[in-house]
Amino acid sequence: MAKIWLSAPHLGTLEESYVREAIATNWVSTVGPNLEAFERSFSEIVGGLPCVALASGTAALHLGLKLLGVTRGDEVLCASLTFAASANPIVYEGAAPVFVDSERTSWNMDPDLVAEALEARAKKGKLPRAVVVVHLYGQSADLDRLERVCARYDVPILEDAAEALGTHYEGTQVGTRAPVSIFSFNGNKILTTSGGGMLVAKDRAMVDKARFWSTQAREPAVHYEHKEIGYNYRLSNVLAGIGRGQLAVLEDRVAARRAIAFRYRDAFADVAGLELMPQAPWGRHTNWLSVFLVDESAFGASRDEILAGLAKEDIEARPVWKPMHMQPVFASAACVGGAVAADLFARGICFPSSSNLAAEDQDRVIDVVRRVAKGKRRAAAAATAALPVGDAP
Ligand SMILES: *Cc1c(COP(=O)(O)O)cnc(C)c1O
Repeated sequence: MAKIWLSAPHLGTLEESYVREAIATNWVSTVGPNLEAFERSFSEIVGGLPCVALASGTAALHLGLKLLGVTRGDEVLCASLTFAASANPIVYEGAAPVFVDSERTSWNMDPDLVAEALEARAKKGKLPRAVVVVHLYGQSADLDRLERVCARYDVPILEDAAEALGTHYEGTQVGTRAPVSIFSFNGNKILTTSGGGMLVAKDRAMVDKARFWSTQAREPAVHYEHKEIGYNYRLSNVLAGIGRGQLAVLEDRVAARRAIAFRYRDAFADVAGLELMPQAPWGRHTNWLSVFLVDESAFGASRDEILAGLAKEDIEARPVWKPMHMQPVFASAACVGGAVAADLFARGICFPSSSNLAAEDQDRVIDVVRRVAKGKRRAAAAATAALPVGDAP
């Protein structure tokens, strides 16, 4: 039987023709009609905001932080429960991440803890340069509250919407409210360009600046004059062709991911101790990944026993992101709270969630998970029954 992946690419019918066109017309570098069309279509998704297509979401984060003026000696608040790419670019710029714990409602950055962190730093007279808000697993953070808190201290937000294309907050796509936002088209995301990212900003001058930096900061002179340090971060026109095709199927992919998550939820409705990640009331959670929390005593087996059971059947599943404040590389970083993210990491599991996951394959996953719990309960019951009379607890 074929391996079942956690989150595989899922191409539509248009991507190949755009890629062919790029090759046939020789637009195979970092300029061309696919890039222009990809950015134009993406802009429509983010409410008409200007955007620039980049080589990765991480590159977009890096340039986004630079746009907000993050530099050596600064602090930047960042969600602890996220992928390392949310935090690494803070360090690229010589700044220090300060991690903030999650709230239970959405698993995203806790606005009360952000307020606490900002208040403490205001008292010391040095505010963070920015706050990286992550929309985790396709669920929006509580933007109203986070914005209110950050506005009080005039600290800008950078929305890391790498996992949140198609995610809504109060009816609108996330990554459209902060001065700078980023998206990812990595191979495991809801849409892919094989690898790629997008930077979105409110201010067109910021997007122009990011585009300039992303193409080696070449001043307009034939001899390539340089007044600033640049980067080679622009997306290829070939890959933008994949992106163009992918944008056409975004709503289908969102519907498929949500259906998969709710199918797991329904299939596990009679299984104690296995609960779908909360669906916060303020938006549309794409459920980019179907994430569940395991209560070992109710379920009868641990999260790691489920992972082992799935691995044995060649099914890829993973724990929830290991929080940044628990990562060796960030051992010396400050963290506000941390117990919630640590608990979600200890008990959280991501099930196969590809939008092209076949129903039969999802049934295989469901079967294995149910068997792990039943097997453990049967073994426990047998052990109790085997106790000699008189020794029973
Ligand atoms: C994937 C991801 C990124 C990085 O995107 P790449 O395109 O892989 O560089 C950043 N932040 C989060 C939360 C992600 O999941």
